[in-house]
Amino acid sequence: MATAAASAPAAPLGTLVCASLTARSPQEMAAEVAATAALGADVAELQVGCLDGFQPRRDLPVLLAQPRPLPVIVAYRPKWEGGQYEGEDETRFETLLLAMELGAEYVDIEFKVADKFLKFLSGRKPETCKLIVSFHNYECTPSGEELLSLVDQIQATGADIVKIATAATEIDDVSRMFQVLVHCKVKQLPIIGLVMKEQGFISRILCAKYGGYLTFASLEKGKESAPGQPTVAELINKYEIRQIGPDTKVFGIIGNPVGHSKSPFLQNQAFRSVGFDAVFLPFLSDDLVKFLNTFSSPDYAGFSCTMPHKETAVRCCDDLDPIARDIGAINTIIRRPDGKLVGYNTDYVGAIAAIEDAIRASQPTDPTTSPLARRLFVVMGAGGAAKAVAYGAKEKGARVVIANRTFARAQELANLIGGTALTLSELENYHPEEGMILANATSVGMFPNVNDTPLSKKALRNYSIVFDAVYIPKETRLLREAAECGATVVDGLDMLVRLVMVQFGLFTGGMPAPQRLMREAILTNTQ
Ligand code: NAP
Repeated sequence: MATAAASAPAAPLGTLVCASLTARSPQEMAAEVAATAALGADVAELQVGCLDGFQPRRDLPVLLAQPRPLPVIVAYRPKWEGGQYEGEDETRFETLLLAMELGAEYVDIEFKVADKFLKFLSGRKPETCKLIVSFHNYECTPSGEELLSLVDQIQATGADIVKIATAATEIDDVSRMFQVLVHCKVKQLPIIGLVMKEQGFISRILCAKYGGYLTFASLEKGKESAPGQPTVAELINKYEIRQIGPDTKVFGIIGNPVGHSKSPFLQNQAFRSVGFDAVFLPFLSDDLVKFLNTFSSPDYAGFSCTMPHKETAVRCCDDLDPIARDIGAINTIIRRPDGKLVGYNTDYVGAIAAIEDAIRASQPTDPTTSPLARRLFVVMGAGGAAKAVAYGAKEKGARVVIANRTFARAQELANLIGGTALTLSELENYHPEEGMILANATSVGMFPNVNDTPLSKKALRNYSIVFDAVYIPKETRLLREAAECGATVVDGLDMLVRLVMVQFGLFTGGMPAPQRLMREAILTNTQ
């Protein structure tokens, strides 16, 4: 959408992507405008207060010289609104007027002084320049009523575009901003409505669904001008903001933390490859019940649940897949067309299918039964992944043994599935028969503690198959040592790729997962 000669889009077809630039010199900032255009953004915001020794008459002509690759917003934020400028308003106003005269397509003025600024301008604003009147709250997001009243007050100043940026203390705050965006869309009032901080992240993407005029991004990681900003490349490539519209279905992973999750990258690529109108987001939330109550419209069509929600999620569902019910933990929630939530556990499918396939590939097996049938299957761990693996193995006819650091939890899980419990130290000398299968479902060995391992190399000699649910790194110390002992090893990425493919099928109502694409994407992005 970048143009050779810049101009302010009169009424953008979709939400504009704007890189907010905070370079220290005009030359560097001008170069960043060009870099922003090359990335495919629509607008650049020049935070001129960030320039070292900023001299408006010297620096603005450099920044605003034509031809310019992108339209720009000039913002000169005072300290009291989170910026750098500490002088008189009058001097700042003169700078913004100069920017208008030099052809800036947008100028941003804070709501608190908007009336004063318009009085100062007294009709000198060029027709071609749009005035953004902005309100920032770096602490919280006011109530819906307060936000709507704020919109009216900002509009009354004579703003061409209303901007409200608040801060999220929890993800649910964002829903109030979405209501404001919808309200303004109905009134055909251009608005930038964003919620800062990590909990507000989804507002920066879903504003495109609700008709936001523009969303801010950083040119690259580490150059954010406000907390929670994605990069331009993330908005355009990872979340495909250009494709998001009113009918786009929303999916996501709910948990804390979720920032590290590869699911958005994987599922968005997969959705795109089959032309499914949906976006997959990270939902940072500690309160699953509240989240599901807040984002309860049919458009929020499915979720992946991770720590700490896998067990709470069971209670949030109206219906459960029978195996998920037995396991007592789910990792996927689908909102049915009637609004009911149904829970599934794809962890067990992923882990068990990966282990079965590895056995089939390494030794002759009877194709009519599971290669796990009657095998002695040792699970280390008693958490969510362990439960899924243990139930899956039991389902396939294996004799299951649970070993866990907290022995009481091992006993509890063993009782639930009809297995045997051991302590981790008992496991060191456990060798009742040959050909045992070992599954690590603890987090031991996970990055950054890559030198840790849950079982000694000596004990690993007793197993013919060793699986590790840990997938960062792909080759854990446990798997490396098991391979050295001659075991067939199965890594956590193999589980992950299978479970996300099953999730993809659930999210899309049964579309076949683009297997090759997802496998390659996982392999290249989890190393
Ligand atoms: P969880 O519910 O928190 O359970 C963690 C388990 O690890 C518990 O049994 C815990 O024992 C044990 N543990 C933690 N630290 C330990 C230590 N230092 N020594 C011995 N045992 C320890 O976690 P989860 O959701 O089951 O996840 C477990 C692992 O599976 C994680 O690494 C996760 O990334 C991985 N996972 C992988 C996939 C995949 O697709 N590959 C999917 C899901 C999970 P206590 O009971 O004594 O606390």
